[in-house]
Amino acid sequence: ADGTAQESVRRGRLFVLSGPSGVGKSTVLGHLRAALPELWYSVSATTRGPRPGEEHGVQYFFVDGEEFTGLVEDGRMLEWAEFAGNRYGTPRDAVEQRLAAGQDVLLEIDVQGARQVRSSALGGEAVLVFLAPPSFDELARRLIGRGTEPEPVIAARLAAARDELAAETEFDHTVVNTDIGAATDGLVGLMVGPRPGSITS
Ligand code: 5GP
Repeated sequence: ADGTAQESVRRGRLFVLSGPSGVGKSTVLGHLRAALPELWYSVSATTRGPRPGEEHGVQYFFVDGEEFTGLVEDGRMLEWAEFAGNRYGTPRDAVEQRLAAGQDVLLEIDVQGARQVRSSALGGEAVLVFLAPPSFDELARRLIGRGTEPEPVIAARLAAARDELAAETEFDHTVVNTDIGAATDGLVGLMVGPRPGSITS
């Protein structure tokens, strides 16, 4: 170390949690955040309307189409994607500030978004984790059983899930969500371990 100020703050790590709709990302995410309270979770912006119980600034920043377009055009989105008829995106500035301040950051985004992070300036340092269902049938069962969407929306999400499942090979790690506790433990294990290539003494 040469003792410069820049070296005194180690950059945070960027984790991207992705996987098909209905796999249980939000549930696992809740457990993961409870287990790792120091982790900073990026709240996305979406044009989707809030579900019962969802609050602006907590699950999402709920914005209209015009506002979303403005954010994209101004370069304020780290990544964004259209999913089942709505747009979703990660506000860039907060993520970069947290990483620079040394905090670990977690994004929970769809597969298209994970790909964009991979090909972005942050792609080299990002750790991409795929949350997989035990099987496609089990995924379909969960999506239908959740009861949060009308039938045509479920159909659109299942169609997207077929493609999303094929993307698993593009990720650094896979965690299978058979059991929430085990999946959470698997993620915690990936996130608290030493950095690849780091020197421990
Ligand atoms: P939901 O409508 O069920 O909350 O989310 C639908 C999908 O959008 C999920 O797969 C979720 O991971 C994804 N998603 C949420 N936020 C973002 C985001 O900021 N960017 C991208 N690309 N996908 C997101």
